[in-house]
Amino acid sequence: MDLLNTLVDKGLRRELPTRDEALAVLATSDDDLLDVVAAAGKVRRHWFGRRVKLNYLVNLKSGLCPEDCSYCSQRLGSEAGILKYTWLKPDEASKAAAAGLAGGAKRVCLVASGRGPTDRDVDRVAGTIKAIKDQNENVEVCACLGLLSDGQAERLREAGADAYNHNLNTSEATYGDITTTHTYADRVDTVQKAHAAGLSACSGLIAGMGESDEDLVDVVFSLRELDPDSVPVNFLIPFEGTPLAKEWNLTPQRCLRILAMVRFVCPDAEVRIAGGREVHLRTMQPLALNIANSIFLGDYLTSEGQAGRADLEMIADAGFEVEGAGEVTLPQHRADVAAAAAGGCGSHAEAGCGSHAEAGCGTGCGSVCGSHEPAAVPEANEPRTDLVAVRRRGAGTDLAPNA
Ligand code: SF4
Repeated sequence: MDLLNTLVDKGLRRELPTRDEALAVLATSDDDLLDVVAAAGKVRRHWFGRRVKLNYLVNLKSGLCPEDCSYCSQRLGSEAGILKYTWLKPDEASKAAAAGLAGGAKRVCLVASGRGPTDRDVDRVAGTIKAIKDQNENVEVCACLGLLSDGQAERLREAGADAYNHNLNTSEATYGDITTTHTYADRVDTVQKAHAAGLSACSGLIAGMGESDEDLVDVVFSLRELDPDSVPVNFLIPFEGTPLAKEWNLTPQRCLRILAMVRFVCPDAEVRIAGGREVHLRTMQPLALNIANSIFLGDYLTSEGQAGRADLEMIADAGFEVEGAGEVTLPQHRADVAAAAAGGCGSHAEAGCGSHAEAGCGTGCGSVCGSHEPAAVPEANEPRTDLVAVRRRGAGTDLAPNA
């Protein structure tokens, strides 16, 4: 297929595909899907080998957000029955982080709901970063605290944060349909502030919110312009109790095409499969590892992921290896830029946590267990509410985290 040969050549040269080429990836047929994955896989292996970076989310503050992001279970007016709690203490957050690191994660993503941190919140997070880094010398820490005011990115950097996550989520043209309490420009501004402060920028998208192919290409091209080191790709979890609860628009095949398009447009960035991996890729998750080089281990912010052990088994079975703490994630040219920005700290080169829009299937067995009747097999495009489980363990609970 000429298109795929062209995209591989461009990806190996870090050359931007045309919009038409990116759109054509999203329009490929199921017959061509394995060829698309194989082509994206060549680009992935060129820049990242067969390594899979594991990241671990710690939700420092859950729910009770005054913003109205329609995709989010923590939004103003959300009726999703999620855990709600205020700031974890540094030792509680450090304990949660330790579980993820013991499970193989090399990056901890500290996330808090809300429009953005106060200066006092930044102090709190600084204390948490210190607590985590005191216990784990090589850990990378990414903060994800919402919109940043002037000077806050610098203070987080001084406190030891390596990266900052803030997602663009969707195209500029449709942003106002998704959120009314802040703007697309606000989001761009925060990513730029993080970059300017020497933090490794992490910024991505959410697919499945009813957007068009053009919207997806728009947001990914905008991301390429912002040049984040990592790009989390979330697949919408349509939480009951949120405005997007009925938006079940994704199939595993569609998710693979979206990931491939992101890989071709951002060939040398850490492409991370974020929320919605288990819910929307389902049994196609191992195939997606041929495109993305990074995932979250275990649970998400407000929903449960598959067991951490299942993540590790999947990586091994698919012929990939977990990236070690001593390995640099990013290709050399990116790692050098990050090291210069960080004053020579090369191993903390890249980026971090996903958005507040996350995913996760339950580890329970839904309605099938206990029955001796063969369960009907759902169609690929059927809503899979059975795979969405609200997080009931880990941070903010007395139960052990999933890692
Ligand atoms: S995405 Fe963040 S800012 Fe938006 S409602 Fe959720 S927690 Fe609040």
